[in-house]
Amino acid sequence: MDRRQLIRLAAGAGAAAALSPARTMAQSFNPPPEFARLDTSPRRLIRAVAGLRPFREAGYVVRAERFDRRKTLVHHYGHGGAGITMSWGTAAEAINAMLAATSERTVAVIGCGVIGLTTGLQLARRGMDVTIYAEQMPPHTTSNIAGAIWGPASLYRRHAVDEGWTARFHAAARISQREFQHYVNDPGYGVYWTKTFNFNRREPSGPFEYGPIDDLYPGMVQHRDPGRWFGYPSVDEYHCLMIDPDIYLRALVSDFETAGGRIALTRFDDPGQLSRLSERVVFNCAGLGARALFGDEDLRPMRGQLAVLLPQDDIDYAYITGSDQGSLYMFPRKGAIVLGGTNELDVWETEAQPEEVARLLAGHGEVARRISG
Ligand SMILES: Cc1cc2nc3c(=O)[nH]c(=O)nc-3n(C[C@H](O)[C@H](O)[C@H](O)COP(=O)(O)OP(=O)(O)OC[C@H]3O[C@@H](n4cnc5c(N)ncnc54)[C@H](O)[C@@H]3O)c2cc1C
Repeated sequence: MDRRQLIRLAAGAGAAAALSPARTMAQSFNPPPEFARLDTSPRRLIRAVAGLRPFREAGYVVRAERFDRRKTLVHHYGHGGAGITMSWGTAAEAINAMLAATSERTVAVIGCGVIGLTTGLQLARRGMDVTIYAEQMPPHTTSNIAGAIWGPASLYRRHAVDEGWTARFHAAARISQREFQHYVNDPGYGVYWTKTFNFNRREPSGPFEYGPIDDLYPGMVQHRDPGRWFGYPSVDEYHCLMIDPDIYLRALVSDFETAGGRIALTRFDDPGQLSRLSERVVFNCAGLGARALFGDEDLRPMRGQLAVLLPQDDIDYAYITGSDQGSLYMFPRKGAIVLGGTNELDVWETEAQPEEVARLLAGHGEVARRISG
């Protein structure tokens, strides 16, 4: 076969790709990349869990206000599907809001998920006297249910945020990812760079998703070669931080206590109870709990469900893709394979649903067959 024939064949492969990935793979110019085959058989399932992301169309809230005449209340909640991702950056923003409002150094933090812990730890590291009050602490928080990839997604709707919020969001994402880099490859924190692929079923309308923070996805290569890439019209390949929340949150609790912080298990049923706290500064890091406690009805549950499989040593990549039945993502951990892709707004159900487990196993099984032959 001469060079001209080869080029014609490669061009033809692009057009045929969406119809027949297997056929176009055989015709492609370069051999397709190799992916170890994910085993999605139901006997490998070790648990199914569901959690409620604290979602606001207008994005997370960071704001300080006077409370009960003598106190400063700093709101810091509503991180949707990106609380772990954004935690260090928005905690820094919340602490700046506090410092602009008061010089008090004794602080209460309501909430012991990733947002309360990260806020509490940063305050304690500044030498402040910090107590976290929470109904639940790890491993029994929504933060423990997270996937968790470092990626600022599913935390706002574009039409509902302004340029000021977006600029602060980008700055916070940058701060946060920089801080996570201190923990990479330390098994005590469970944070690892992982090669990640977006297998896009359609051509993206523009460059990668976030514009000004694209550089936070290092090693980015965009492939437009469906003949080689299993019939996907566009594939983004990059490196992402992958976080195991059970390990990471346990480490945050330990770091917080080492820095002098205290944790008290308490439930607050109305803001009046906060008045009885001795601390003059109170951070509201109650996640979805802030809806009932402070009456923010813009804060809504976005239900997510995960099917967690036995670990598979040869799976060293992650992916995000779609199917006719909804989105799908696969994140590998040292101790498990996490299959996800559920996003249900205004659904309060926290029990895992067997139909959704079946959808995740079937959908990921299809992806495995497509990319691993
Ligand atoms: C399936 C799924 C996948 C996800 N994947 C990712 C991901 O890949 N990457 C990512 O960054 N994020 C992900 N998330 C989102 C992430 O989990 C959340 O954004 C994050 O957990 C929010 O943290 P938080 O500390 O605000 O809330 P929580 O973890 O819910 O913590 C809230 C704390 O406040 C306490 N509290 C609440 N109300 C009260 C009250 N009235 N009195 C006393 N204490 C109270 C709770 O007990 C708890 O301690 C995912 C979420 C789900 C469900």
